[in-house]
Amino acid sequence: MIEINNVSKWYGPVQVLNDCSVSISKGDVVVVCGPSGSGKSTLIKTVNGLEPVQKGTITVDGVVVNDPQTNLPKLRSRVGMVFQHFELFPHLSVTENLTLAQVKVLGRSADEAKTRGLKMLDRVGLMAHKDKFPGQLSGGQQQRVAIARALSMDPVVMLFDEPTSALDPEMVGEVLDVMVGLAREGMTMMVVTHEMGFARKVANRVIFIDVGGRILEDCTKDEFFGNPEARQARTKDFLNKIL
Ligand code: ADP
Ligand code: MG
Repeated sequence: MIEINNVSKWYGPVQVLNDCSVSISKGDVVVVCGPSGSGKSTLIKTVNGLEPVQKGTITVDGVVVNDPQTNLPKLRSRVGMVFQHFELFPHLSVTENLTLAQVKVLGRSADEAKTRGLKMLDRVGLMAHKDKFPGQLSGGQQQRVAIARALSMDPVVMLFDEPTSALDPEMVGEVLDVMVGLAREGMTMMVVTHEMGFARKVANRVIFIDVGGRILEDCTKDEFFGNPEARQARTKDFLNKIL
């Protein structure tokens, strides 16, 4: 579903991704972790073409993302993305947030978009808030609306970039619960997070990126957590700091 092949990227003279290769199959839940500044956000953004790369190729569901011929808006409509900051439109109601891109990008009718959006809102447990504005919701609720909005577009994969790291601790669980549910239903997910509880519950693979944008580990969850002695020194060091 996602193929990242030998991707390198520089910002000016600074290399931020160094020959990264990742292969994600349908239904995989891949957790990406690593120190701050190691290139996690950059890597995940290459998947929907938000960050161009100088070397390598990225393919999503058979579409080559970094081919100039590729219709990026169309591709992005199939790749759900949830960021650290919820990025809902503050001046639109929850329902309007859920329907806007469905109408503008997918060409759905207002009725169809509303039906789909509210179904997804119900799924994240927020139907009662459909007419509110983002500012009237807690951070955890806003992030769940952001997930519902992404799901309303019927994505083939979902990308998450530290979706809980800006939340107050008591709201982390409600967002992770929604993500666990998605994973268990078979959604293909690439998730940048330091929530190792989430990784233990639903990841099939864990990737560790080190500073300089090098993938140091790409292994099954069982290998990653079950065999700490086999991990690279840098990974052990990182895990000791966050666990
Ligand atoms: P992470 O998400 O792992 O914290 P990022 O992907 O955000 O890391 O950043 C990787 C490196 O690229 C960092 O050194 C960061 O400072 C640098 N970087 C990120 N965005 C830009 C940019 N737009 N211009 C220049 N450097 C950037
Ligand atoms: Mg980041």
